Amino acid sequence: MIRLPPFRFFTPGTLTEATRLFAEHERAVVVSGGTDLYPNMKRLQVSPPSLISLRGVRELKTIQAGADGSIHLGAGMTLTQIERHALVRERVPSLVEAIPLVSTLPLRNMGTLGGNLCLDTRCHFINQTPFWRQAVGSCLKDVGDVCRVAPGGSRCWAIASADLPPLLIALGARIRLVSERGEREIPLSELYRDDGIHYLNKMQDEILTRVILPRNENVRAGYLKLRRRGAFDFPSLGVGAALQFNADGVCESARVVLGAVTSKPLEMPQAQGLVGEKLSAPLIAGVAEAIALQARPLQLADYTYAFRKQMVAVYTSKLLNRLAD
Ligand SMILES: Cc1cc2nc3c(=O)[nH]c(=O)nc-3n(C[C@H](O)[C@H](O)[C@H](O)COP(=O)(O)OP(=O)(O)OC[C@H]3O[C@@H](n4cnc5c(N)ncnc54)[C@H](O)[C@@H]3O)c2cc1C
Repeated sequence: MIRLPPFRFFTPGTLTEATRLFAEHERAVVVSGGTDLYPNMKRLQVSPPSLISLRGVRELKTIQAGADGSIHLGAGMTLTQIERHALVRERVPSLVEAIPLVSTLPLRNMGTLGGNLCLDTRCHFINQTPFWRQAVGSCLKDVGDVCRVAPGGSRCWAIASADLPPLLIALGARIRLVSERGEREIPLSELYRDDGIHYLNKMQDEILTRVILPRNENVRAGYLKLRRRGAFDFPSLGVGAALQFNADGVCESARVVLGAVTSKPLEMPQAQGLVGEKLSAPLIAGVAEAIALQARPLQLADYTYAFRKQMVAVYTSKLLNRLAD
């Protein structure tokens, strides 16, 4: 059995208390469901001296409708709670369909939205036991100075492997970040950096408190996932898309976002080729090919690079055809 390394554990009941603890404890890390952080700590990928648990922070556990038709999802809501919530089921069916694709039911009962959006990047080398890794040596994301999967490179290529960011970015989600210094709101797409180590564009002590989904009228959205095992597995590729149509069936806006391709969810500008058009299978096939041409999946996840690149076109086309139907 692999044990957790020692750490101090704090259990604030309010957001104010949580941000204060963060300010007081250098190198502290927040933990929500712990379904990603604890396994990573057991594998000694990270060894924070202090953990601030968000499980008791009540401000993070709400789902509300905004006056402008938006929906505010508390970052501390578990994935199961979100999937079963009446407002989400009525207004964001694409999220209700995507959530069951994340890990397994017991993990979704613990795992939260905030944890999913801040999920650590993954790669074949780092996500192994320390014993296994010792056989080869350390890597950039560990304490070393070389990447074990692309030894010539000077950066960490670990892959963004969470399922929900591609769909939520396609839906135009914004997020709220709170620290002792105050709060700010940014588009979810701006949370991510293309860097396997520093993959989040936020200060260490900022807590993600809520996700805001804009009013989405006449929007059809969805998420498709390629994975090795049907039962559960991290994505080898994720495709999130949202299309908006006018009354004549002309596409007015289109967003396609790829997950598990690089260190951040990748928005594909080629989707703009759908805008102003009535969607047809040949048009979609052309756009999907253009997206696949630009997507360069890294050789760090399941399947080969070449197969995953081919699958970008197949999965994008399949999803867009489904949404256009
Ligand atoms: C076997 C297994 C299979 C899995 N399969 C999948 C899968 O297929 N797809 C997938 O997407 N995920 C998968 N996961 C990961 C995980 O279960 C989910 O992503 C879950 O939603 C993570 O949420 P959490 O609350 O448990 O995160 P935690 O483990 O609590 O946190 C994850 C990271 O986010 C940070 N964090 C958490 N909450 C906040 C916050 N509010 N503000 C700022 N930072 C925060 C933590 O510091 C940590 O770095 C899998 C996990 C396991 C163990």
